[in-house]
Amino acid sequence: MLKLMEDGAVQECRRPGPAQAGGGTAYPVYHRDLHGGMLAANSFMDEVWFVEGGELLAHGRDAILSRLAQGPAPEALIREAALRTQRLKEAAPYELAFCPTYSCNLRCAYCYQQFDPTLDKRVVSDENLSKFLAYAGGMIDKVRAARPERPVVLQFFGGEPFTRPAKPVIKKLFEFCRERKVHVAVTTNGVGVDDFFDILLPYHGYIAKVGVTLDGVGEFHDSRRKSRDGRDTFDGIVRNINVLLRAGIRVMTSLTLDKSNLGQAERFFAFAEAQGWSDNPLVELSVARVDDRKYETGYDAIMSEARLFKELLDLNSRKPFPANIRFAFLKTSLPLAARLRSAFNQNEAGRDKFRYCWSCSGLDSMVYVDSGLDVYRCTYTVGDKRFRIGTLAGGFSTEEWEKHWTWGRRECRECPIGGYCSGGCRLSAQKDFERNCREEKANFEYLIEHVVAPKLAGMLPAKAA
Ligand code: SF4
Ligand code: SF4
Repeated sequence: MLKLMEDGAVQECRRPGPAQAGGGTAYPVYHRDLHGGMLAANSFMDEVWFVEGGELLAHGRDAILSRLAQGPAPEALIREAALRTQRLKEAAPYELAFCPTYSCNLRCAYCYQQFDPTLDKRVVSDENLSKFLAYAGGMIDKVRAARPERPVVLQFFGGEPFTRPAKPVIKKLFEFCRERKVHVAVTTNGVGVDDFFDILLPYHGYIAKVGVTLDGVGEFHDSRRKSRDGRDTFDGIVRNINVLLRAGIRVMTSLTLDKSNLGQAERFFAFAEAQGWSDNPLVELSVARVDDRKYETGYDAIMSEARLFKELLDLNSRKPFPANIRFAFLKTSLPLAARLRSAFNQNEAGRDKFRYCWSCSGLDSMVYVDSGLDVYRCTYTVGDKRFRIGTLAGGFSTEEWEKHWTWGRRECRECPIGGYCSGGCRLSAQKDFERNCREEKANFEYLIEHVVAPKLAGMLPAKAA
C-alpha cells in the first residue's frame, strides 16, 4: 500500500493511485528518504506520497517513482487550471487600486519606496484625479453591464493615503465610491486614521477592510516604524484600530516578520488577545514576511518562508494561535502546508495553479494606478518606474507578467518542484534567476526537513515512523 498525504493525515491508497488516471506523461518527482521509507511529491499533479520501506524493497524505488510520475499531458493540466480560473474569476470581485500620493508620514527602516529620491511625492492633481475617476467609472460600467451584482472594490494604497494633504482627494474618492456603490479597502500605517474618521465612519458599511501594518508591540514597533517628526506611533495606531472596530469596520493587522522581530510574534498575539482582537469577527491577524524580492536591500535579517513557517509552527505548538490568524507569506510551501492542515487561513484567492503569486495569474485583474497615472501590476513594484506596465492614457497590459509560470521555462518544466514553485517570484527571477532558483530549492528542502518530516512522523503508525 502507498500512503497519500492529505488533509492532515496519511491515508492508505491502492496502487496505482490517482496520478495514473488518464496518465501518459511522466513528470519529475521530488523524493527523499524519510522515516525508513520515501516521501515523494508530484508537484504537477499536486500529490504527495509516503512509500514504506517494505514497498520500496518489494517493488523497487525506480518502478514506484515511475508510477508516481504519471499524469495527464501538460495541455490537459493547463486546460483544467484555466477552467478553474474562469470559474473563480466569475465569482470574484472587480478590484482596482489607486495611490493618491507616494508621500508618507513614517520612515520605516526597510521601506522600498520612501528612500527613492526620484519618487514624485505630490498628491494627485485635480486633472489626474478626474482622469482616474473617468477610467474607474468606465470599468465599473463595463463590469456591471456583464454582471450587475459583481462587487467592485477600490483599494487605496500609497505611500500613505491617510495624510492630511491627501484628505481632499480621499474625500472625493469616497464620494465617488458612495455614488457608484463601490466598496473601499485601504492599506495604511494607521497613524493618521483619526484625521479621517469623519469620512470613514459614515461609510462603514462599504469599507471592505482597513489593513494596518504593525512590526511588533509598543516601543519595538516605534523603533522600526519611525514617524517623520520623531513621535511614537504604536499607541495612537491601536486607539485608531479600536475606533474603527467599534464602528463595525473590518481591520486586518499585518505583522511583518524577520529574524530581528520574530520574538515579537508571541507578544503581539498576547497583546491582540488583551485588546479583544483575537475573538473579534471583524479582525484578521495577518502574518507576513519581510523579503527582498528585487535583491537590492542587502538586509540580512530576512528569513526564508519555510524557516518562518517552522518558527511559527513551533510557536503555535507552545501557545496555539488565535482562530483569526491569517498567514500571508506561504508561496511554494502553500500546497504542502495545506496538506498538513497548517496553512492558517492563508487565502491566495487571486493565485492560479502553476503561478507563484496573484501578480502572475490571470484570475485577479487588479492593477495599481498612481498619482502620475502610471500603472503597475505587482504590489512590490508600485512607484518603481522600471516595472511600470503602462499608463492610463497610453494603455497597459499584464500579459508579460502572466508569461511567468511553471511552463514558461525549460528549467521549471523539468523541475521536481516546478508545480509548486512555478518559477518563483517574477522580480527575483528577472533579477537573478540562478539565485532565485537556488533559494527556492533550498527553501523546499528546509520545508521537508523541518516541517514535513516531523509532521509526517506524527501521522505514521509507530512502526513506520
Ligand atoms: S525556479 Fe528553480 S526551483 Fe523554481 S520551479 Fe524553476 S527550476 Fe524549479
Ligand atoms: S511578483 Fe509576485 S511574489 Fe514577486 S513581489 Fe510581486 S507579488 Fe510578490
